[in-house]
Amino acid sequence: MLNETAYALGSNRSCIRDLFEYGRQRAAVVGPENVYDYSLGNPSIPSPPEVNQTILQVLQDTDSLAVHGYTSASGDYDTRKAISDDLNRRYQAQTRPEDFFLGCGAAPELVSVFRALAVPGGEVLAIAPYFPEYQPFVQEAGLTFRAVPPDVPDFQISLEAVAQMLNPHTQALILNSPNNPSGVVYTRQTLQALADLLNRKAGEYGHPIYLISDEPYRELVYGGAEVPFVPHIYPDTVICYSYSKSLSLPGERIGYVYVCADAADSGRLLAAIAGAARGCGHVCAPSLWQKVIARCAHLRPDLQSYDRNRRALYEGLTAMGYEMAKPDGAFYLFIKAPGGDAQAFSDRAKEKDLLLVPGDGFGCPGYFRICYCVSYDMIQRSLPVFRDLIQGA
Ligand code: PLP
Repeated sequence: MLNETAYALGSNRSCIRDLFEYGRQRAAVVGPENVYDYSLGNPSIPSPPEVNQTILQVLQDTDSLAVHGYTSASGDYDTRKAISDDLNRRYQAQTRPEDFFLGCGAAPELVSVFRALAVPGGEVLAIAPYFPEYQPFVQEAGLTFRAVPPDVPDFQISLEAVAQMLNPHTQALILNSPNNPSGVVYTRQTLQALADLLNRKAGEYGHPIYLISDEPYRELVYGGAEVPFVPHIYPDTVICYSYSKSLSLPGERIGYVYVCADAADSGRLLAAIAGAARGCGHVCAPSLWQKVIARCAHLRPDLQSYDRNRRALYEGLTAMGYEMAKPDGAFYLFIKAPGGDAQAFSDRAKEKDLLLVPGDGFGCPGYFRICYCVSYDMIQRSLPVFRDLIQGA
């Protein structure tokens, strides 16, 4: 006998992966230059050169047993201190190394946080459009996943919708800004209003409602957009951070969970997150990468090529009549499907070897996502195809 939920999760391939595989097959047939693949969010800028240099330095100047050995489950103190110092410098924050738990990227960190908050009947809210994996993560933790309808067309947060869905069973709300798939950055004003609402409701229910701030795109912002440090606005916050996008290290699996010391029950919450991770088989984050991050926590990505892509697409597509919210962060655009049916539009695009992800999986039908971690040349070649599609050709 098998666990059927696990089987379903493992055997139903994601639509994004399917499109990506399809793109590879088509490239072999029609040539890679004739396929315009906007499906997968794999970083396309190299890690800062200091990262690779640091790997070599660590290998040279650190005892091999220490480099490759187990660390404590919450991670090397020096690494947590470097991350804490960097955040304190940037945000005038007062984080402490003991407030951090080093994890293997945002995905397993989120899983641990959901499991730590899993009480019978508990619910978690996610604001549409949202990262599709939240749903299985929350449900597998034993919580109920509930999607808050999108704030169309700006994709900030509809407070009325959140207010309607909050109830005494609400354990947490997931926040993801800069957002996958919309590219939108929630403004300080939006976050402040959300915090006021959550404070009011938490007071009414007599228990905290945690904000789980999923921040793999925190450093990916353009044109000076502000990404506020959420715990300053709402102390009952847990940050799940990852170096997958900020340092282009998605295959290395390194990040951290931060629980603000001022959060309700912060000590017990962090212990429960560590315990939940343990229950999922967490031993420690990769040791070599902990040592690299201890020396690289201050590095930021060079965003020039993402920004050039973003502007080329945003300006090019809006001039053709496509509609989308202003993409100030991450590396995605979330575009209203002409005709209203995103699946039908994506199918038409696919016939022209233009690969777009329909928004249904993000909890937002009628829109499609494009990921602009691609070459500038591909964007230029794809623009006439977008024009043909909107003109119905
Ligand atoms: N959260 C969001 C919003 C993402 O887009 C991703 C990856 O694309 C993740 C979490 C998982 O990232 P990680 O590689 O850190 O597990």
